[in-house]
Amino acid sequence: MGRSVSDTLTRVEAIGGRLRGDACDADPIWDREVETENHEQALARASAAWRTQFRHLKESSAFYSRRFRDAGVTASQVDLKDIKRLPFTSKADLKQAVDEDPPFGSNLCVPRERVKRIYQTSGTSGTPSVLALTPSDIDTWTAIGTRTYYASGIHDHHSVLTTFGAGPFVAGHTYFVLSRIGSRVVPVGPGDTDRVLFGLRAGIFDTLMTTPSFAQYLSNRLEKSGEKVHPLAHVVTGGEPGGGIPAVRDHIQRITQATVNEVMGIGDIAPSLFGECPAQMGMHFCGGGHVWVEMVHPDTREPMAIEPGAQGELVYTHLTREAMPVVRFLGGDIVRIEGGPCGCGRATFRMRILGRRDDMFIVLGVNVYPSAILAVVGDFRPRVTGRARVVRPGSGVGIEPPVPIEVEVGDDHAGDAGLAGEIERAIRSRLTFRSRIELVKEADFGEAGYKTRLVRKV
Ligand SMILES: [Zn+2]
Repeated sequence: MGRSVSDTLTRVEAIGGRLRGDACDADPIWDREVETENHEQALARASAAWRTQFRHLKESSAFYSRRFRDAGVTASQVDLKDIKRLPFTSKADLKQAVDEDPPFGSNLCVPRERVKRIYQTSGTSGTPSVLALTPSDIDTWTAIGTRTYYASGIHDHHSVLTTFGAGPFVAGHTYFVLSRIGSRVVPVGPGDTDRVLFGLRAGIFDTLMTTPSFAQYLSNRLEKSGEKVHPLAHVVTGGEPGGGIPAVRDHIQRITQATVNEVMGIGDIAPSLFGECPAQMGMHFCGGGHVWVEMVHPDTREPMAIEPGAQGELVYTHLTREAMPVVRFLGGDIVRIEGGPCGCGRATFRMRILGRRDDMFIVLGVNVYPSAILAVVGDFRPRVTGRARVVRPGSGVGIEPPVPIEVEVGDDHAGDAGLAGEIERAIRSRLTFRSRIELVKEADFGEAGYKTRLVRKV
């Protein structure tokens, strides 16, 4: 299929790294020195920061000084280029650190009175834990987040409605970021569709910051009602995959007339760490100088080069974090590194998320990420809403075909006799496995979505 005229225009006009229709003369790169430097320069910057950080860890972290000793690392200094000598840190390791010395954990590296902000994690795997920040940590998160959201195309002349709450989660840090960029902010918080619709009708914002699930839900609603509202310039999605899946993204773009792109972060590292520029060619790494990223093989965890086409798990090390620094943290996201130079001028690597390691399942030897199913199901719009999830019996990673999948449909399509079979055939041809589709009405699928769980365990 040929690319539409509007897609072509988006790409051509985005070469300058700004949104279609943005005629301002601001530099579209927030931190030009860091974001355009080559690999050698980035390594030198990171290595210098790491030398100080390694000392900080050895002197102030009971958790890491013990782990380094246990791994046989007794040297007074380990160069960043030798960081693979240090052990990985998993989510379970951090949980253990909290159990040792709650609530902050034995990895807290500063006196408690220096902690000036505390976020909580959503506790997907058990009890919530806390993320502590010193004033310097707060500023670093804001600096990285500012590069990220500015890269997405948000400038000071934009008016941003955000559906991210100020707390308890780290997404609330975006309020500091928007202030630093200098945008107008319209805070709404999660799940308040009426306030978002009011803002759309009143034309008080041109940029929507939300989850792809909510943007999709809003677009479905507007499409169904046929209501004409003010067009948007920009929808920035985050918190879950979707904004980079064409079947999801293109639908939201068509209804809102906005450019849709995505950002991504990791609570334990930085809440906004990767930002896709208006060229829509994957998310740029925005943490230069503060976070060091490695890539490892998803199965063997052997180091891999970060180069176009590579697929692996990203591993993160804080270079400047004071309160709760982590070393070689296994992020759990399996990504693909995107190729080619980007027209925006950033030299940082770009990536797309393939899926969460925990969500992956194996069908007859083939690894499958549930987000790939969204890409197929989305093509059946408007007969489907765009939401779908895999039903996983037991805790094993292997699923015997046919793979049970629930697909959300509007009430008027619940009795669509041929639909399930058509989706099963599309999944068979595009993802190569057999599935069994169950159509589920919106009322039965669960809360109309702020976030969508891609897997339902039974
Ligand atoms: Zn770019």
